[in-house]
Amino acid sequence: MGTINITGLTRAFKGTVAVDAIDLDIADGDFCVLLGPSGCGKTTLLRMLAGLLEPTSGTIEIDGADVTDVPSKKRDIAMVFQSYALYPHLSVRKNLEFPLTQAHKNTGAPKMPKDEMAVRVEEVAKSLEIDHLLDRLPKALSGGQRQRVAVGRALVREPKAFLMDEPLSNLDAALRTQTRQELSALHQRLGATFVYVTHDQVEAMTMATKIVVINKGRIEQVGTPLDVYDRPSSTFVAKFIGSPAMNLIPAQVTATGGMVRVHGGSFSADLWKGDTQDIDVLLGARPEHLRRLRAGEPDPAIAFPVEVTNVEQLGHETIVYGHTAGADLCLRTHRVSDIAVGDTLRLGLDLDRIHIFDSASGRRLE
Ligand code: ATP
Repeated sequence: MGTINITGLTRAFKGTVAVDAIDLDIADGDFCVLLGPSGCGKTTLLRMLAGLLEPTSGTIEIDGADVTDVPSKKRDIAMVFQSYALYPHLSVRKNLEFPLTQAHKNTGAPKMPKDEMAVRVEEVAKSLEIDHLLDRLPKALSGGQRQRVAVGRALVREPKAFLMDEPLSNLDAALRTQTRQELSALHQRLGATFVYVTHDQVEAMTMATKIVVINKGRIEQVGTPLDVYDRPSSTFVAKFIGSPAMNLIPAQVTATGGMVRVHGGSFSADLWKGDTQDIDVLLGARPEHLRRLRAGEPDPAIAFPVEVTNVEQLGHETIVYGHTAGADLCLRTHRVSDIAVGDTLRLGLDLDRIHIFDSASGRRLE
């Protein structure tokens, strides 16, 4: 089991509240990704879970037991660092054995016999395809191989939870993609709890069962990758998840004759029945949800002209940047070759594709 419950967890450094009263429940077997920009407090939160940093206040429970004051070694969790933190003077085999040689000191369990240890190390090395590297020193490994050794060192012990701090950030793009798939497969095979820190939304979207978006030490949203993508709770989340980012077009909503109406730049549309205060909003539209309207095609709910300022050809798709009254916009479309800088396109947006955020607070409006 590896259930983690966090209540009111706070950590202040001199003058900075890095983690601010966070409540979070991580279920056994979750692949929970802590996602946010640099400095938002992800690492500080992970280090408190690991027992490497004392909270200023709040509690951490693992499997129902309060471990807030329990030293790191006795928490039965394993941590994989961005730097891998391998012992440079020890072979890969010794690096993998190390947690096993320490386990009895930390948990009071009987010492693991040497032959059993050797079998366990071989098993883990095979599963990560590093068994041919066991007698090398870390300096004789590539970045990707070192990363696997670091994961292997966490795996040998079968801990309650794996905590990982940006473990892929030193790898090149191709190896990152491959390792992402390997980590997902590993998570499925082990069924263990993973808590994984990254600022890379692609890592979060592809591996997480649960994404926790963090901004300035606080949780902005918790949800599955598709929940967070489809219904971002704030403009912060909307901009952080998805690439190119969601378009946010300044607009106003008003109540007119029982309908809530949105209007901005050159468009206006009735949204739904109801009353509302007149407020300034940001109308959100994913680049793939803007549609290019052909001549004669009837307008969807919202339609407006866009002057094209840049066109990017990615081979399988085309990204078009442009400007409409009051906003810069981005359109993602299947590959097209008939759009050029300076063209004026007519773009449309269906009602069920729009997101509306309060411009003052950034919060999603229902
Ligand atoms: P990154 O992605 O850059 O690693 P992060 O989201 O992991 O960022 P943290 O490392 O948790 O962010 O830092 C959160 C905030 O706490 C930052 O403002 C940072 O400067 C501050 N901070 C972290 N550690 C310390 C420390 N030991 N002393 C003072 N301030 C610190």
